[in-house]
Amino acid sequence: MKKRSLFSVILYVGVLALILSLILGIFDFGKDDLTYSQIVELFQKEQVKSFVVEDQSITLQLHGKYDGKEKLTCRLADPDSFRQEMHSVFQDQSEKGVLLSYDFVPQDGFSPFDLVIPLLIVGVVLLLMWVILMSRANNGNHMSNFGKARTVMGVPNGKKVTFDDVAGVDEEKAELQEIVDFLRNPEKFTNIGAKIPHGLLLVGPPGTGKTLLARAVAGEAGVQFLSISGSDFVELYVGVGASRVRDLFEQAKKIAPAIIFIDEIDAVGRKRGSGLGGGHDEKEQTLNQLLVEMDGFNHNSGVIVLAATNRPDILDPALLRPGRFDRRIHIGAPDAKGREEILKVHAKNKKLDGGVDLGVVARSTVGFTGADLSNLLNEAAIMAARENRPVLTMDDLNNAMMKIMAGPEKRSRVRTRRDLKVTALHEAGHAVAMYNLPTQDPVLQITVIPRGNSLGATWHIPKDDSANLTRNQMYEEIVALLGGRVAEALFIGDISVGASNDIDRATKLARDMVARYGMCEALGTVSYLDDGEVFIGRDYQTTKSYSEKFAGTIDDQVKLLMDKAYARCAEILKKDEDKVRKIVEFLLENESMSGKQFADCMEDREIGEAEAVSMFQKTEE
Ligand code: ADP
Ligand code: MG
Ligand code: ZN
Repeated sequence: MKKRSLFSVILYVGVLALILSLILGIFDFGKDDLTYSQIVELFQKEQVKSFVVEDQSITLQLHGKYDGKEKLTCRLADPDSFRQEMHSVFQDQSEKGVLLSYDFVPQDGFSPFDLVIPLLIVGVVLLLMWVILMSRANNGNHMSNFGKARTVMGVPNGKKVTFDDVAGVDEEKAELQEIVDFLRNPEKFTNIGAKIPHGLLLVGPPGTGKTLLARAVAGEAGVQFLSISGSDFVELYVGVGASRVRDLFEQAKKIAPAIIFIDEIDAVGRKRGSGLGGGHDEKEQTLNQLLVEMDGFNHNSGVIVLAATNRPDILDPALLRPGRFDRRIHIGAPDAKGREEILKVHAKNKKLDGGVDLGVVARSTVGFTGADLSNLLNEAAIMAARENRPVLTMDDLNNAMMKIMAGPEKRSRVRTRRDLKVTALHEAGHAVAMYNLPTQDPVLQITVIPRGNSLGATWHIPKDDSANLTRNQMYEEIVALLGGRVAEALFIGDISVGASNDIDRATKLARDMVARYGMCEALGTVSYLDDGEVFIGRDYQTTKSYSEKFAGTIDDQVKLLMDKAYARCAEILKKDEDKVRKIVEFLLENESMSGKQFADCMEDREIGEAEAVSMFQKTEE
């Protein structure tokens, strides 16, 4: 921003200087050689041979010289009064033969053509500036679109989306059905005096199908769909966003019945005056215009505004007032049944092997959104296609799942024997810790094959959909996360950076326990963290909602909790040191250890053959 404004200042000053110099050059106001009284004096001394008054300047030809010049030019403020005052003098001196000739060129002798060239030049310069500014503001878009809403009309790709394409959100669909009915048959509602909501806000995490659902509403109702993203309103130039909003609503009213869909509305609709360093004029103007437009159109004009966001908490409250976005539909990550339905929708156009059980996949994909599930099936299809297989198998899904969760395998990555040993020890630490912690998931596989940016992994599967973690669960998760680091410290005597991600996650958990969920006696059942509304650009910072006195206590308590977890982990690993060493040996030899082999080891049985590892567990409830 700074650079840009500096650039435009230089541009403006340059152009201004150019224009001024042109004007001065062409009109040639020149310097005055004489003052008015000096002119009069020259006449009195009978020194003027001839003169011409043209426009507002007088040119004198002298007998002899004045100031070393024979010819003098100067400005006359009022040529007419000069003529009247000096009339007798002119006649006198003409008769005497002193003044040989004089002339007053008529005023209208001024030709408009004199102005054409400078005007042309100024015009061209202004045009150039305009084009430059426009192209900078609009990223090369055609300039006539500037200030207009960049909307997408109709349904992209020409494919009509219907409610059938959106799965696992039955309640939400039922609520939206009302909007569809209204758009299809508005009289039914208006006749009885019913008002249909102006605006409807779809709230939910990314990938849960908000955009898809909005498109489906348009598809079901068979009306025009004007779609725009909130960030399209956010422009460098003040007033452009507001004019885009105006334009958007104008377009919609023209083609009504229609749906206006504002995706990612938080980009434009965040609380006013909440930016760092005071409000942001452009954003506030845009938001104000949006509020005006939402109030301005009639309830029955056949235009309905849908908007989507994943940050409803940062929206300006004015947006949520009655008559604006007064209805909210929450869309969460789908449950197991929802996931199965979504998988079915996306499996429709794919060939599945008979052995693929989407129900099993659904139960093992806790926390996956619709977008994740669609991605999972797609990755699996790509894997099958790459190997020229006609159908997609459970194995493909399994590989796709691992790839999505940790990145692709990197078997070719070269590692030293020492690196490998540290990794094996680290993962063995996690696995043994997990085994000893009742709330933690069973280990599915331990591997030292690098994947994505991790050197190894201990896979486990969340047992259930439960979103409600208990204090003990969270605490034991911290202990398990520390397993890698503790093993390194105990059995190598040195520690590596490989544990940094584990430590980050463990610390965040500990902090949440202490300061967010009120799980720490010393601080009581108080939430100290507050996802605030302070912005740096479009990012959010956590604001403090506690005094300095508590800041220290929070840090102390987090440290205390981490120390306690560390000690617990060390205790577990020391007790099972022989197991840890056995697993490391096994991993160095075989790279991977399956869940069953791990259980064999922990329960002092002979380690059996590796079984196929599946991310998808058939166990039910
Ligand atoms: P959001 O707008 O909430 O971030 P999208 O609507 O863009 O999410 O979803 C991205 C993609 O994920 C969709 O195009 C669709 O393929 C898939 N998807 C998400 N939710 C669902 C769902 N409930 N049913 C079917 N597909 C879904
Ligand atoms: Mg979206
Ligand atoms: Zn780790």
